[in-house]
Amino acid sequence: MDYEIVIGLEVHCQLLTETKIFCGCSTHFGNPPNQNTCPVCTGMPGALPVLSRKVVDFAIRAGLATACEITPSSVFARKNYFYPDLPKGYQISQFELPICLGGHLDIEVAGESKRIGITRIHMEEDAGKLVHPEHEHGVSYVDYNRACVPLIEIVSEPDMRSAAEAVAYLKAIREIMVYLGVCDGNMEEGSFRCDANISLRRWGAPKLGIRAELKNMNSFRNVQRAIDYEVERQMDILDGGGQVVQETRLWNVDRGISMSMRGKEEAHDYRYFPDPDLLPVVVDAAWIEEVRQSLPELPVAKRQRFLDDYAIPLADAEVLTADRAMADYFEAVVKLSSSPKLAANWIMVELMKFLNDDKIDITQCPVTPQSLAELLSLIEDGTISGKIGKQVFAQMYSAADNNPRKIVEDQGLAQMSDSGELEAMIDEIIAANGDKVTEYQQGKVKLFGFFVGQVMKKSKGQANPQMVNKLFKEKIG
Ligand SMILES: [Zn+2]
Repeated sequence: MDYEIVIGLEVHCQLLTETKIFCGCSTHFGNPPNQNTCPVCTGMPGALPVLSRKVVDFAIRAGLATACEITPSSVFARKNYFYPDLPKGYQISQFELPICLGGHLDIEVAGESKRIGITRIHMEEDAGKLVHPEHEHGVSYVDYNRACVPLIEIVSEPDMRSAAEAVAYLKAIREIMVYLGVCDGNMEEGSFRCDANISLRRWGAPKLGIRAELKNMNSFRNVQRAIDYEVERQMDILDGGGQVVQETRLWNVDRGISMSMRGKEEAHDYRYFPDPDLLPVVVDAAWIEEVRQSLPELPVAKRQRFLDDYAIPLADAEVLTADRAMADYFEAVVKLSSSPKLAANWIMVELMKFLNDDKIDITQCPVTPQSLAELLSLIEDGTISGKIGKQVFAQMYSAADNNPRKIVEDQGLAQMSDSGELEAMIDEIIAANGDKVTEYQQGKVKLFGFFVGQVMKKSKGQANPQMVNKLFKEKIG
């Protein structure tokens, strides 16, 4: 390709606070329209905003987790534009002096690590929502429940060079914000959303090309598709001798194309100025330290610790740490059982299959870590086979029965390790398959598996396989 792809991302995270950023209204999603409102968030004349301390806490958390400097004094500004979902006629945001500056995040793409710069993180309020009912032609409603809901915007440097890097960065940011408890990371509901600035330049060109901004990508897959589409589109324009127009484009998921929405504004179009209703946000070292102390272990550190402490493969560590609650569950099981690898396998294969089928997450799992650990110890000490273990697990899960030992006892599922009983079974099989025994003894060693299989079948999977192997070897060589 003749061009270098240049991508920067702006990520909006809706914060998990219970109240709005400048008033005490609830942020609860799904309430009847305009229920969560007051004079402040509906922009009534004379109503004054009061900043929520929790929002600042969350912004500092996000900043510390992405290696940003926390600015000692940051300023809220008014971003002026007219739209019916914005009752004041301006959005309160931060402009020249945001709360966090100059961080970075390391991503990994195709085995290579790369550092992506973070320009800034600022706090702002969300806008309301317009509703256009299908059956009422020419009518629109406005719902201000979302007006004044707190957001942070995380702005990256234009450091990404492919859609894959952009997606990796976005995933890493999302993972961190969810770990921090700052955002629920739900892309479909829009509580975690991203805009992408994309431009192309000829290799070696000193200046960045003209960029287009892409909006409305509500999944990682759509981010990938939208960027790929945009790169092709710009390449065609440049190859044809044309010029890319600076504009905002909307990604159309159904048609798989982007469409021009409006010319991209420059900052001066918004007539930013400091909001006279709000004091500068002063954050002292003690506050920063307090937040730093409360930070949880972050995903990258946790992954490394899982590799070091539990000696599980990297792929396992990645799956298990992708979700903080899942990682906690795994550790709770490992504390009570002796084999981290066995615990990892069972969680990733059996447990996750059940959770996926029911579309629930680990916090709703009916099987407790204690009882999974107990099941694993029954397998490890040979009381039951792995195969029977799966059967027991299914019962534990579906009946929310957390006593595997009792299930095994009640249903007589313990492994047959009585050599007398097994021997009788083996003798029967040998007697019934004389021809195969001869073939085996003449060198058709593959038949050994057949004999073992027969015993497993006869014992309904309960024969101890090691003992079966041993007894057969003794009897037929
Ligand atoms: Zn309010």
